[in-house]
Amino acid sequence: MAYDPGNIFAKILRGEIPAHKVYEDERVIAFLDIMPRAAGHALVIPKAPARNLLDVEAADLAAVMAVAQRIARAQMKVFAAEGITLSQHNEKAGGQEVFHLHVHVIPRHIGVELRAPLSYKEAPEVLTEQAARLKTALMG
Ligand code: AMP
Repeated sequence: MAYDPGNIFAKILRGEIPAHKVYEDERVIAFLDIMPRAAGHALVIPKAPARNLLDVEAADLAAVMAVAQRIARAQMKVFAAEGITLSQHNEKAGGQEVFHLHVHVIPRHIGVELRAPLSYKEAPEVLTEQAARLKTALMG
């Protein structure tokens, strides 16, 4: 399947729509999910166009995973997480809704179930505050 540059994450990369960014380097950006399955839920994406795991360049995938690890370590502190769940969906049958490769990095706590996908929209001011704390932890 071809990459569609009209997808919402491509628009974030082009600066056409805002995002609560927490990290950026030459290959990767990370920002908070606006419909978090748990507080602090972040998405890590390559800057290069890639639909998903099936077409991404290996070097971009490696860069995305290295940033996912950094985000996970920061989330353990900032959200007092007890664990981290990574998920990554490929094509409709694999649960993918946005067709630009992304890795979900989700802070977890014992006994707390994830919210259902797309079931809860976080207040922008909460995301702004959480992104600021995560950004600070990532710089430290
Ligand atoms: P997936 O099912 O893996 O394709 O998940 C797509 C994710 O993107 C969902 O968790 C959505 O909540 C999230 N999402 C959709 N639009 C935006 C946006 N504008 N900013 C941040 N996250 C978004």
